[in-house]
Amino acid sequence: MFEYPKLLVDTGVIRSNAMKVTGLCAQKGVSLWGVTKGLSGCPEVAKAMLEGGCKGIADSRCANILRMKKAGVKGPFMLLRIPMLSELPFVAENIDVVLVSMTETVEALDALSQNAGKRSQVIVMVDMGDLREGIWPDEAEHMGECLKKCEAVDFLGVGSNFGCLSGVLPTEKNLSALVDVGKKLADAAGTDLAVVSGGATSSLYLLEEGRMPVGVNQLRVGEAILLGTDVTGKREIPYLDKNAVEIRAEVVEYRRKPTKPIGEIGADAFGKVPVFEDRGERLRVIVAMGRQDVMPEGLRPLLEGASIIGASSDHLTIDVEDTGKSFRPGDILAFAPDYGAMLAAATSGYVNVRIL
Ligand SMILES: *Cc1c(COP(=O)(O)O)cnc(C)c1O
Repeated sequence: MFEYPKLLVDTGVIRSNAMKVTGLCAQKGVSLWGVTKGLSGCPEVAKAMLEGGCKGIADSRCANILRMKKAGVKGPFMLLRIPMLSELPFVAENIDVVLVSMTETVEALDALSQNAGKRSQVIVMVDMGDLREGIWPDEAEHMGECLKKCEAVDFLGVGSNFGCLSGVLPTEKNLSALVDVGKKLADAAGTDLAVVSGGATSSLYLLEEGRMPVGVNQLRVGEAILLGTDVTGKREIPYLDKNAVEIRAEVVEYRRKPTKPIGEIGADAFGKVPVFEDRGERLRVIVAMGRQDVMPEGLRPLLEGASIIGASSDHLTIDVEDTGKSFRPGDILAFAPDYGAMLAAATSGYVNVRIL
């Protein structure tokens, strides 16, 4: 009903980025799963990823996977977040590949899969130092024995996560160690090691440099395909397009104002005490978009010379003095989001998503 703020998603760019990343992966025998959680499991995005050669679609949320299934996305689907026991009935029925780290969860999934008359495939997450989810390497045997007893759960392989909680980077060393843990686990489970899932966007540099350890044969990639960036590796990926996702907001005020506030300074609406440099009077605009819509720190104005001054719940103020342009209410300003800002916009109930 309300047009702005608007999140524009160009699925053509997403398809071509996916093709470039799947092409790189294919040269090294790595299969690529496209990760849709950054855009709330948007079905058109998933379709573009599959058209771009992704082997399947991975998302952290059952709700997003349900949304995609309802919209006719074929899958297969991988659940990225280790599941809650309370969502396992859905998982057993609907998810093709599940990331797991707890034997209790595996046992419960086995029971539910048997009841549903389905088989579930699991990838065991191993913590290689980032300290989010995953078994310790020395638990491989215990987990393997648990999987061996399962009747409807198949052990597919191991995976690890990097850069997400603690910023630990994937390297030849920790990924080779992951392959070794996988072999131990497969031995204990009495099966083959079909998959070693070696991380996300931040692992791509190893493929580019020809340094991916032998045995790693799967990646789960979202950020690179959606934004063309690698936040953990602090780089723009040179061969990918950066313009698939854009946020637009509408100007509601333009006015010359001093750069230094008038009066005594307390804390702002979020408890922070802001600091201002006096640069005289400058032209600024307000767009009708704030913390309820995006993560303002993750926005870059696309208009040359514009810079973000600050944001509150519903307002974003932008210094436009150096743009050399004049403004009026109703003008539209565009921004490139980083991953956090994209995620916030995609999950905000106030932002209108437009698929191109
Ligand atoms: C989000 C996520 C990914 C994708 O990460 P990107 O940095 O967007 O490529 C991969 N694996 C897991 C477990 C995730 O949660």
